Amino acid sequence: MEKIQSTCNYCSLACNFDFHVENNEIISVLPTKEYPVNIGFGCIKGLNLDKQSTIYKSQVKPSIKLENGGKKILEWNDAFELFASKIKTIQEKYGKESVACISTGQLTLEEMSLVGHVFRNHVGGNLDGNTRLCMATSVVAHKQSFGFDAPPYTLKDFELSDTIVLIGANPIVAHPIIWSRILNNKIKNKKIITIDPRKSETAIHSDFWYGIKPKTDLIFLYTLANFLIEKNWIDNNYINSHTENFEEFKVHIKNFSIHNVENLTGISKEKTIELAEMIHNGKNVSFWWTMGVNQGYQAVRTAQAIINLAIMTGNIGRAGTGANSITGQCNAMGSRLFSNSTGLYGGGDYDNLARREKVAKALGVDPSIFPTKPTLPYNVIIEKIISGEIKALWILCTNPRHSWSNNSQFAQAMKNLEFFVVQDLYEDTDSSKECDLFLPVVPSIKKEGTLINTERRISKMNPVLSKEKDALSDYDVILGIGKALGMGSLLNGWETPRSAFELMKNTTEGMPCDMTGVDYDKLSNSKGIQWPFKAGEILINDERRLFENNQYYTPSGKAKFIFEDIHENPLKFSAEFPYILNTGRGTVGQWHTQTRTREIPYVEELISKKAYIYINTELAKELNIKNQESILVSSINGNKAIFVANVTNDISKEQLYAPIHYIETNELTPAVYDTYSKEPSYKATPINISKII
Ligand code: SF4
Repeated sequence: MEKIQSTCNYCSLACNFDFHVENNEIISVLPTKEYPVNIGFGCIKGLNLDKQSTIYKSQVKPSIKLENGGKKILEWNDAFELFASKIKTIQEKYGKESVACISTGQLTLEEMSLVGHVFRNHVGGNLDGNTRLCMATSVVAHKQSFGFDAPPYTLKDFELSDTIVLIGANPIVAHPIIWSRILNNKIKNKKIITIDPRKSETAIHSDFWYGIKPKTDLIFLYTLANFLIEKNWIDNNYINSHTENFEEFKVHIKNFSIHNVENLTGISKEKTIELAEMIHNGKNVSFWWTMGVNQGYQAVRTAQAIINLAIMTGNIGRAGTGANSITGQCNAMGSRLFSNSTGLYGGGDYDNLARREKVAKALGVDPSIFPTKPTLPYNVIIEKIISGEIKALWILCTNPRHSWSNNSQFAQAMKNLEFFVVQDLYEDTDSSKECDLFLPVVPSIKKEGTLINTERRISKMNPVLSKEKDALSDYDVILGIGKALGMGSLLNGWETPRSAFELMKNTTEGMPCDMTGVDYDKLSNSKGIQWPFKAGEILINDERRLFENNQYYTPSGKAKFIFEDIHENPLKFSAEFPYILNTGRGTVGQWHTQTRTREIPYVEELISKKAYIYINTELAKELNIKNQESILVSSINGNKAIFVANVTNDISKEQLYAPIHYIETNELTPAVYDTYSKEPSYKATPINISKII
């Protein structure tokens, strides 16, 4: 029996597993004991990777939709030619930017970079990723505050921190391996603190829960910072030597008084002081955030308020500290650096001439092939499809008909398209069943490439099973499309995932994410490796954090305090819409739009098939709603949907919480975005509810 180590491609932990294989059949899947991420553990999703694409099997050849609603199976070359000719015809008729693409953090680094090469460099279309829905906020926050999109931590910091502050994060459900790392923390009297409007699974198991009013986090964080400054519970040496803009920040937040905090945020003065004292008394305080912060209308500034707390208290660049954003998808970090969508490969802006030259040299191309501006963001791509300016859309391994905020807007967009292509494992997603051309691909257990996880660790995905006859990987399909588009010598060096990795590696030379020392072949059966890792460097430690030398990537080398006035929710609460809808992950086994969840039998048997929503016990009583009764939820965006009521004391009276895994939930969220990151606001939608009689 052969043992093949590979990487889980569900969430951003990118755990490693040992697949025991005989005669092209997986006999067992066991978490890799020595892998520094999951250290012999695995959640139910990773442990069921062997079921990928076996229960719901798509065709292996592409298909085109016929006018009568049926479909015709095509040979791969015919599909590639059709794709190329349609894209060219539409561009000739409507202009270069009349075509667009939406990719995903589920693709490997190599697939992501190749689609960026084909669709941005050659085709000249716009290309954004579904990472816009989860990590765009952190990207912008890091770039502005640290000078580069650089999550500073290593997962070991969960075990080394005596004060762990989780903000808008629910790792017990969303990142179970992170919770296992927290449980590995053996520091006596350590404190686990959760700030969340809902008494989430993580809040229940934390030492302290701060039940904040939804979307008052920026007010709370500024008040906390002001109180720490007033008490002089800050690290003046660190501030003076390694940061800039502190005096301006101090002036900006001086009116955020502890005396107003309860009224504005729901957290009492005493509780706020208690938290400030814990931060002050902690030796190694770490701050962690995820979608509760990222998916808001003032999200970038909220993330930066967390960064401000870490740098003003000197809690960064040391073991067990940091302002740490937790990523969502398996390769969100890879997509941020190598998608060629908002910036050049390996980082750098499109208008930076020196960087253009350097990246072009690494790829062996002329710099003029690169776009001259960042892509249109996801929301604008959809708006331009609706307005008729964009006529063709290619989506890869994502399901926006379900996951897009205000998803009925995407349904409208699909109807406007002249050519809609979906590349996916499954032909029955809410998006793929509507497409003109369907391009089926193999699952991760049949393909190779690399992923970069939440702590910047590059890990290898190895084929565990061989592909069926005629089956292609995402990489094969994108390459086939590039050839059909006539890219010719522009595809030199892109022949295989291995060669694409070498190209990408070369683009990082001298950048903060320098990975010129990483050997693609040696990544197999390894512990993975965090960037940066430069050519010639010797690896001393498997777990490395950034900023230990207190040098940031800004022009001054200092971390920057960034702040802003508080914005009100652009959507107002009223008598018509008096409650707040919050959304997020439902259970450990459910994954995003539940397409893959179907491949985990135990989860599939247990989860609710109907969309459900959590409602406060007292509110339910007042409205005469009983547990498990159906209720109608009306959103300020004009949509309505039916949910089963789950009555609970773990949510306050003014808010309701619905899991994102149901299409009904994303029908209710609005077309409202953070100003800087354009990430949708999924967390604070005014709604009303009524009992269905
Ligand atoms: S925690 Fe994430 S990466 Fe690890 S096994 Fe679960 S889904 Fe996979």
